[in-house]
Amino acid sequence: MKVKNRKVKNLLEKYRQISLLGKTEAVLGWDLRVNLPKKGVEGRAAQIAHLTKIITEKWLDPEFKKLVEDTKLSGLKPEEKAILRNLRHAGKFYFKVPKEIIVEFSETTTRATVVWDEARKKDKFSEFLPHLKKLIKLNQIIAGHIGYRDNPYDALLDLYEPDLTAIECKKIFGKLQPELTKILKKIMKSKNYSEKSYLVEGELDYPKDAQEQLCFFVLRRMGYDLEAGRMDDISPSHPFTSELGRFDVRITNRYNVKDFREGLMVAMHEAGHGLYEQGVKEEYSATPLEGGVSLGIHESQSRFWENQVGRSFEFMKFITPIFQAFFPGQLSEVGAETLFSLFNQVRPSFIRTEADEVTYNLHIALRFELEEKMVNGKIKATDLPEIWRVKMKRYLGVTPKTDREGVLQDVHWSTAPMGYFPTYTLGNLYAAQFTREMQKELNLEDLAERGELGTILSWLRANIHQHGGLYRSDELIKKVTGKPLNPQHFLDYINKKYSKIYNLK
Ligand code: MG
Repeated sequence: MKVKNRKVKNLLEKYRQISLLGKTEAVLGWDLRVNLPKKGVEGRAAQIAHLTKIITEKWLDPEFKKLVEDTKLSGLKPEEKAILRNLRHAGKFYFKVPKEIIVEFSETTTRATVVWDEARKKDKFSEFLPHLKKLIKLNQIIAGHIGYRDNPYDALLDLYEPDLTAIECKKIFGKLQPELTKILKKIMKSKNYSEKSYLVEGELDYPKDAQEQLCFFVLRRMGYDLEAGRMDDISPSHPFTSELGRFDVRITNRYNVKDFREGLMVAMHEAGHGLYEQGVKEEYSATPLEGGVSLGIHESQSRFWENQVGRSFEFMKFITPIFQAFFPGQLSEVGAETLFSLFNQVRPSFIRTEADEVTYNLHIALRFELEEKMVNGKIKATDLPEIWRVKMKRYLGVTPKTDREGVLQDVHWSTAPMGYFPTYTLGNLYAAQFTREMQKELNLEDLAERGELGTILSWLRANIHQHGGLYRSDELIKKVTGKPLNPQHFLDYINKKYSKIYNLK
């Protein structure tokens, strides 16, 4: 990237140190969740908090802060403008939230992540509760410092998806929720609605090693560069992707020996995030243009590979013989049609990450409502498990029996500020709209059936990945599809796909 402006050049030099330290901190965070011995937690919390302190000090360096805030945009090239825009956005957090609060939040989250993991395994919400209480308080304090017009939750949403507001979220969920509930009810009444399958809920086992090998096979087909990344097993914990740089993007997976679907879908999902990072222009590395645009756009990449590709009938035709080769005893008689309906089985369930495409956003709607109320002090942490059960019953018609299947299932509240969840739904909406556009140029069905996933990746690289953080999310969706985000594309996609599978009128 050729930068002419002297001030921007200076900014890039200073930012490079922030980026390098940030990646170092991310390696410690990855190791914390993948490898760390139990007794190492306190030491690790101190190490990460120390790095957070140094990074915060870099942000607060008076010269750097002045450059970020005062550099004039006029006369700058688009890339230079984007650099400033991204720095100003990230700077909101560092410039406005006091350093002590940022460090305290870092220490609290490191500890809370480990406690949450244990509490979830043991199904003991009471162990996590004091940490959650502290986190809610810190979220409120952070929102207060960042500032907002009428809802503190808006300050947090903006950290993940610039300019997203609670009102906008309510509008989106207000459109999705009734439609999705309607289609869910129709599906549950349809003849094709089957409650159980012996393939995934019976005696059959699918050894983890074979599942892992199958996932590596698919990653390679997708074009995932395993010399610039890796995949580690963290079962039964929560899968995630760590972006440690363009040439070091690590994904994690969780396998279920009773159900072969989970590992493959997680692999394709996390690899979707990873491919995005691996595809950003190399010259953007260690600059404010590295990485994806926003969490919503990032999630569109993971959901696209998981759903629009992974759960398509054509991909099932491609993957069926491969499943049979890996699990000859279990699956040799099973055809693509069966696998397709298994992978697209709609069923109200407790766990978000395993939810089908129809119910998934209802899980998010629930979390959005809880977060928004927690940050506004309208819900107490103590009451969360009960409120969770009541809302699950209302939205999905099921009541979790344990907190492990309920309020303790997600890692998010222990790792970062609240406001993350709505970006999952945005990701689904962006994915549907991008796919519609892609289909004008590519025969997606044909490519999926032949396993030519590299051609699909090339389209994503050219249209989305290479740009990194050059555009805002609203600019990118317009640039690629010609229109602003419209949730109707997602509803059309769901209606079309599931009307066919379940023979709906
Ligand atoms: Mg994701």
